[in-house]
Amino acid sequence: MNPIDRLTEAFEKFPGIGPRQARRFVQYLLSAAPNLRADMAEQIKALGANTSQCTECYRWFVGKSGLCAVCGNSSRDAATLFVIEKDADIDNVERSGYKGRYFVLGGTIPLGSEEPVKHIRLRELKKRIAENGLTEIILGLSATTEGDHTRQLLQETLKDTGLTISSLGRGLSTGSELEYADPDTIASALNSRN
Ligand SMILES: [Zn+2]
Repeated sequence: MNPIDRLTEAFEKFPGIGPRQARRFVQYLLSAAPNLRADMAEQIKALGANTSQCTECYRWFVGKSGLCAVCGNSSRDAATLFVIEKDADIDNVERSGYKGRYFVLGGTIPLGSEEPVKHIRLRELKKRIAENGLTEIILGLSATTEGDHTRQLLQETLKDTGLTISSLGRGLSTGSELEYADPDTIASALNSRN
């Protein structure tokens, strides 16, 4: 396969990117200065060298290994675990003033999939929950059909843990993703969790 098609295919695998957008990215790179391409290739390589995945919440951070800044901060409330879909949600929830812990699920579970979904860290979540100290799990999933479906499956899976399982209450409007909700909206959704 030629390099244009190969790179287009690679971009198509990015979340939310379709064939047309992928082609536009490649077109942009073709018309860009050669040092921009070299620079980007270098940055992509560096991503792997200087980052680690947190062993507790599974977010990616810049550092050697172990815990991210949030999980490594012992002054945070260890009793509350906020389950979110993706890394970007953490930055947004942090601005709402939340002081507990996090767990990055890895996405949502598509409708109709009964099988364990590969990118979803369900096993890791159960393991994390089995550790002592937690009293409440907050499910902070998107107000979308897949988000609702994932919430129901998690509520079902976690009901025997003996922990309080709550979900973000009113305030997060239908169709919205946590990543794009403003901090005040998240704070009020947290206060009205049920
Ligand atoms: Zn962490």
